[in-house]
Amino acid sequence: MKTAGQPPAVRLLEDIALASWQAPSPIDVALRGVCPRCGRGKLFRGLLTVVDRCPVCDLDLRAHDAGDGPAVFVILGLGAIMMMLVFWVEFRFEPPWWVHVLLWVPFSVAAAVWLLRSLKALLINQQYVHRSTSLEE
Ligand SMILES: [Zn+2]
Repeated sequence: MKTAGQPPAVRLLEDIALASWQAPSPIDVALRGVCPRCGRGKLFRGLLTVVDRCPVCDLDLRAHDAGDGPAVFVILGLGAIMMMLVFWVEFRFEPPWWVHVLLWVPFSVAAAVWLLRSLKALLINQQYVHRSTSLEE
């Protein structure tokens, strides 16, 4: 933030803004898919693509890469939960095979996309909060 050459009134307003600023919680960022700095700008363009810059605070998000971390958690975690549910439905109700297709295909796709978005946003938030070097500027 450039405060040296600005008039005192502008510096005072910036100090007030900084004093009242609160970082969004990681849970808030993960569930709403918002910027880890301002908590207002959308983090995703489309389903799973992270925007290059926050449209509200202009935070550069290109270097905050969640990589394959969320995919591993979704494959292992959601896969285990799905298989337990599939076996429970099969042994409890013994439905025809097409019920399984109608039930689990939409559920698994929706749950995977939701979990991938949430975990990606959570990891990006943790990178933003804990990274020792500043990627801004
Ligand atoms: Zn932002």
